[in-house]
Formats: sequence, C-alpha cells, structure tokens
Amino acid sequence: MYDLVIHGGEVVDPGAGLRGVMDVAIEHGRIAAVGPDLASHPTRERLDATGNLVLPGLIDLHTHVYHGATYWGIDPDPVAWHTGVTTWVDAGSAGATTWPAFRDWCIRPARTRILAYLNIATSGLASATHELAHLDTMDVALCARTIEANREFLVGVKVRMGAPDVNPHGMEPLRRAIDAATRVGLPIMVHLGMSPPSMDELVGALRPGDSITHAFNGNTMRMIGEDGVIVPSVARAWDSGMIVDIGHGAGGFSFLTAEALIGQGRAPDVISTDLHQLAVNGPAFDLPTVMSKFLALGMSLDDVIERATARPAKVLGRPDLGTLRPGAHADVALFKVDHGDFAFYDVRGIRRDGQSRLRNTRTLVGGRVLASLPPAPPALWMTPSYLQKRIAQAGHVPDGYVWPYGKLD
Ligand SMILES: [Zn+2]
Repeated sequence: MYDLVIHGGEVVDPGAGLRGVMDVAIEHGRIAAVGPDLASHPTRERLDATGNLVLPGLIDLHTHVYHGATYWGIDPDPVAWHTGVTTWVDAGSAGATTWPAFRDWCIRPARTRILAYLNIATSGLASATHELAHLDTMDVALCARTIEANREFLVGVKVRMGAPDVNPHGMEPLRRAIDAATRVGLPIMVHLGMSPPSMDELVGALRPGDSITHAFNGNTMRMIGEDGVIVPSVARAWDSGMIVDIGHGAGGFSFLTAEALIGQGRAPDVISTDLHQLAVNGPAFDLPTVMSKFLALGMSLDDVIERATARPAKVLGRPDLGTLRPGAHADVALFKVDHGDFAFYDVRGIRRDGQSRLRNTRTLVGGRVLASLPPAPPALWMTPSYLQKRIAQAGHVPDGYVWPYGKLD
C-alpha cells in the first residue's frame, strides 16, 4: 500500500536518467517506485499530474532564509509552495554565534528543507556588509567546532570576497574559510564582488569542490576579461573541479557575461537564485524564473533542470535529494512550461526575451503537498529599487506575483 501515487505526468529527472510519462509512488516520505501503471497499485491517495512535468523537488544552492534576524533573510515558506523549491541552502546568513537561533527558530519550524553554509564571520550577515571588517571575528576553530556539532544541517563554509567585505584584509578571510572547511572535510562557497583581490589570486586558492557564486556577474571580479573571453586561471580552476554557481541575487547576474560564457561552451554547474530581501521582488524573483532565463539563453530544458536538482545535490553530497530514485526523499515539483513572449531582466536591467517559462503547479516535501501561504511583506528596512519598480510597472513578473510595496509612483 502506497501513501500517494502521482500519475500521468512526464517525469524529468536528468540525474537519474529518467524521462517519459511515468508514475511516482511515495511511501513513508520517500520515493517507493517510479514506472508505468503504478496508479493501479493500492494507494491511500492519487494525484493526477497529466499535462505536467514531474521533477525532483528543486534545490536552490544559494539563498538567505535566516529571517527576522539578518539583513537579507526571507521566510522561505511563502515562496516554496509556488516555486517547487524543496531544499533551500542558506549561503552564510549565520555565523557561529548566530547559528543556534537560525537552527532552532527558522530551520526546524520551516515546512521546507533547509541546509546551510556557515559564515566564517561569527556574526554572519546580521548587517548588509562589513562582516569581515575585523580579523578577530573570523574564528576558525569555533567555525569548525560549530559545523562538527551540526553536520545534519551544515554543508560548508561561506565567505564573501570582494571590497567592501574584506577590506583591508585581502585574502586572509578566504584563507581562514579554507582552513575551517579543511578541518571538517567540507567545501567552501565564495561570493564574488568587486576586486581586489584579483580573480587570479582567488581561484588559485580554491580546491576542487569549492564553489564560486555570483559566477556570471558583470562586476570587476568576474570570469571573463575585457575581451569577453574566459580568464585563463578561471578556466583552469573550473576544469580542475571548481564549482560554478549562478547566485543571481540583486547584483550577481549579467546577461552579457552569461552569453559570453555559454557561447564559449561554458554553461554553469548550478543555477541558484541568491534569493533575499532585495532579490525576491525582482530581478531574480524565484528559482523557476532564473531557470527560465537560462532557457531564454538557449540551454535545453533537461540541462537547466539538472542544474537545479542533480548538480546541486552532488555539490551537497546528498544522493537522497534532487532525484526521484527509489529511496530518495519524496520531494517532488510539478511544473508546466508556458509558451509565449516573456521578458526577463538581469541585475542591470538588461532585457532578454524568451519563449518559455517554467510555472510550478504543485510542490511536495516528504510526500506532502505544501499548502498555499500569502506572500510575506518586505522587511521594514527595505525599499524597492529603481529596477524593481521598473519591472513591476512593466508587468514583466511571474504569474501570481504580488507587488508588496503598495502603490507604484
Ligand atoms: Zn548571497
């Protein structure tokens, strides 16, 4: 007896090599079977997915979900149910001293799965920036000890490199992040911002398995040179196992950089949102919107899905997530692909038009459908950016999106 059979949909699980009209059976919060005609098997419930894509629940590798105590944090639950994102990986919102409240007051009560990179700065991202201003706040031993005691949740160490975060310490925060991560045998995730330090120095220090995020940004610390060609040291690091993650956010994604790199056969390893207070109301919006931007850039549907399921699962070392293989957590996302003319914007307001957009129709965590929730209002310290107003005014927003700031001027 299954608990639930999702039947009639088109399964797309690139990591498991599954594609076609198949049923998905769920039992005790795990995938029990995938195959044809499971709907005739005894089951407590059935969910008709005819006309939908049936995907593994999406993994967003770069988010900020420490809400109520950090500058960037949003509550993931009001976003998860209509976007298919079942695993939210927080990228360094908490450091060692702010970690326990994040775990107990945000992660444990959430309906979604939350994992996290621990910030090398003990305070994490309580403020917008300057978390690395004082070297004595980067406590390597405490960072490692906190991870050791919380391995169920913590997947690596985060460090934001780039002025003004690291001034005047140069490469020292990165060295400390790597030191802490090495002690616990985990990777780091590095945020790219403005140089200095240089890309050469930065990628030269990384180990295989370490990630760069905001990888396709158009700022000074970026993957391509003035000529638009990938920087040789970056190409070498990438080819040696460095992970390239999108981390769209409010400043980390440029269509021009993306077009240059994809044009050189360099598609990203992972597509993620860097969803936070300044990105959730545009220009990132949510993971399906960011994925749709890569469809507009010419990547195939299967390649895009793999970069939000199997690839991030591999980065996390979690074969039980991001797949519909029997035994995996029963995190499932149903989608439709809408066809039409859709406008997408990068963080500078550069527009590209696409013909397809992914639209989530149902999201399940541990075999349970997530019920709808109203959108969360922005934090009091947030005001809409010029770009957000422009996108909202133009109406180029995903279905069901509610402008949260009141009247537009
Ligand atoms: Zn971030």
